[in-house]
Amino acid sequence: MTTEHETAPAPSAELREEYAQLAEDVAKHQVAYHQKDAPLVSDAEYDQLIHRLRAIEAEHPELRSADSPTEQVGGAPSEAFAPVEHLQRMYSLEDLFSLEELRIWYDRAAASLEKQRPGEKPRWLVEVKIDGLAINLLYRGSELVRAATRGDGTTGEDVTHNVRTIGDIPQQLNGENHPEELEVRGEIFMPSAEFAQFNETLIAAGKPPLANPRNAAAGSIRQKDPAKTAQRPLSMFVHGIGARSGFELTSQHQTYDQLAAWGLPVSPYTEVLESFEQIEAYLKRFEDKRHSLVHEIDGVVIKVDSFAHQRALGHTSRVPRWAAAFKYPPEEVTTRLLDIREQVGRTGRVTPYAVLKKVKVAGSEVQRATLHNQDVVKAKGVLIGDDVFIRKAGDVIPEVLGPVLPAREGREYELREYVFPQNCPACGTLLAPGKEGDVDYRCPNAETCPAQLAERVIHIGSRGALDIEALGEEAGHALTQPAEPVPGPLRNEADLFGLTPEDLKEVRIWRQRRGKEATPGELELVPYFWTKNGQKPTANTTKLFDELEKAKQQPLWRVLVALSIRHVGPTASRALASAYGSMDKIRAASEDELAGIDGVGPVIAASVREWFSVDWHCRVVERWTAAGVRMEDEVNEDTPRTLEGMTVVVTGSLENYSRDESKEAIISRGGRASGSVSKKTHYVVAGENAGSKLAKAEQLGVPVLDEEQFDVLLTQGPEGLQTNE
Ligand code: NAD
Repeated sequence: MTTEHETAPAPSAELREEYAQLAEDVAKHQVAYHQKDAPLVSDAEYDQLIHRLRAIEAEHPELRSADSPTEQVGGAPSEAFAPVEHLQRMYSLEDLFSLEELRIWYDRAAASLEKQRPGEKPRWLVEVKIDGLAINLLYRGSELVRAATRGDGTTGEDVTHNVRTIGDIPQQLNGENHPEELEVRGEIFMPSAEFAQFNETLIAAGKPPLANPRNAAAGSIRQKDPAKTAQRPLSMFVHGIGARSGFELTSQHQTYDQLAAWGLPVSPYTEVLESFEQIEAYLKRFEDKRHSLVHEIDGVVIKVDSFAHQRALGHTSRVPRWAAAFKYPPEEVTTRLLDIREQVGRTGRVTPYAVLKKVKVAGSEVQRATLHNQDVVKAKGVLIGDDVFIRKAGDVIPEVLGPVLPAREGREYELREYVFPQNCPACGTLLAPGKEGDVDYRCPNAETCPAQLAERVIHIGSRGALDIEALGEEAGHALTQPAEPVPGPLRNEADLFGLTPEDLKEVRIWRQRRGKEATPGELELVPYFWTKNGQKPTANTTKLFDELEKAKQQPLWRVLVALSIRHVGPTASRALASAYGSMDKIRAASEDELAGIDGVGPVIAASVREWFSVDWHCRVVERWTAAGVRMEDEVNEDTPRTLEGMTVVVTGSLENYSRDESKEAIISRGGRASGSVSKKTHYVVAGENAGSKLAKAEQLGVPVLDEEQFDVLLTQGPEGLQTNE
């Protein structure tokens, strides 16, 4: 936000220079973004530049020229389309980047209204800020006669033919009493789900994916050939009106109601609020769910609802004073792609990842991003050394979107193409291609490849397997590290349960040096499992051994998960454990027998047989058994088999059962605990916050039980339910 200063000293030469450079950069970015749909920097970086430019102009208005980029609304219309004069000017929005800025804007608008129309408390229409492209639709009577982009606010581009291909936009308005002439303003967007799908098809066709839904919408609407636009999944929501004749309404929300009645698409996320606190709550609510809406948003727009109030507040040359856009922290930034390296997963899959120049995005620092596989690297068209767009949305792993192509100019010699290695980066073994249809390469040296071993050991400790908290990432790596800096004691997970604290005494790892004199990045070699003076195991190591001891008593299905058999996750493991009850019986079963088990099937059956045909795998089982790991489930003869042949789905949270416990309870009584509801489901047990599964059950007519009825079902079977009815 700009602030007025009464007297400021004359700008220094450096400030003039900074100003001139900034103005040039911002103007360049505006052209790249608005006219070419090919931005050179992320929106957040652009916002920072223009914010600084505005701050300098506020302090030194004498520097501002009439054609300053801060005065522009978007960019000049491209010559590829016929120019269209809007009947009423289209504005941009004032950007607010913090609650403090919003508070200042809110108080200023409220105070100005109080002065002009005392006693009339304003109401605020709050809606999400759609990340799309502004459009101006002109209706004459009921007929859509023209559609234009915003352009520079006065003149836009005629994209009528393209807009006519968008199903959501009525060519003909419903109902009656249409105004003689009406400009409807809205945002064209590509819905998030369609955007993801569209990008997948691009990648599959060997083309680079689109950077974000906004660019996708803008690029789609500005196609020369409407048939191409028609293939793009586009939608629209209205967010205002421009010129009108024969149409008088009193507020923004009333206008939306009327537009909806005529068949125009109106956003479902709009609310009319009374206070700053309510607006703040809305901002928080939508920030939490910003990725589960129909479309991407980059903020929230706050508007004074009453038209009389809007008129009282008026406009600046660029933005209305009665509306403002609150922007969420950015999720997309640009940074340098320093290198592409590979990681080797638990099953030997080798996947490339990006090593990035450290950058802050969505509130956290990012240095790595996933690249999935070599085809994706190719499809994204990135070169090592490129400036790249990266994105981090919520808890999702950061992702490289694509290169900033124009930034390559003059730096070509610094760039190089990524070559996928032929040998495993961890153990040097020649990589093997995946089976048909699988683009991934794998390291076939499953037993001793240190990367695969480390991942398997970490997996054993994970919550879904044997749940050994002290066996996390760092401990897993320390136990299995190859010769450098000191060899870990495990060459194979077979020995895990045979370890003693003495075996871990010499294990050392590199750590940041602590203490006053240490410099950042300075490493020292320290014992990992024993105290620094080498006198005793650390408290965490004692915990590790306690937990390993307890883990020996875990149920059979968890042991199966811990073995890292391909395709055998918790569901298949439970099915195998409940069908056979012991490791020996599973090992002795034929492929056909295994495949016949409910919840197993041919792929898993083949994988289980294949796994047991490998000597060192069998050795793992033998050594674990010798060390006391329980390889059989205790069959409790007292537990009645009340659910024999029944499929039960538990959804939502129950008071007396954890997720695992409810499954256990079903399986131990001969039932099948399934994760999805179908016609074959016998019962759905619905706890607190049950969602779509409950809805599905109701739709399919599957009986729904509460926790109390679930208890009855477990102890007495379906008959119990009937007698209790
Ligand atoms: P803006 O996007 O901040 O806000 C104005 C626009 O928001 C309106 O014109 C309207 O089309 C849209 N909008 C979406 N939902 C709305 C709603 N519910 N109600 C009202 N309007 C709604 O400003 P701008 O002038 O369109 O362009 C600036 C944007 O473009 C910024 O996000 C900026 O970061 C980006 N930009 C980026 C670059 C770059 O190089 N990356 C360059 C220029 C501009």
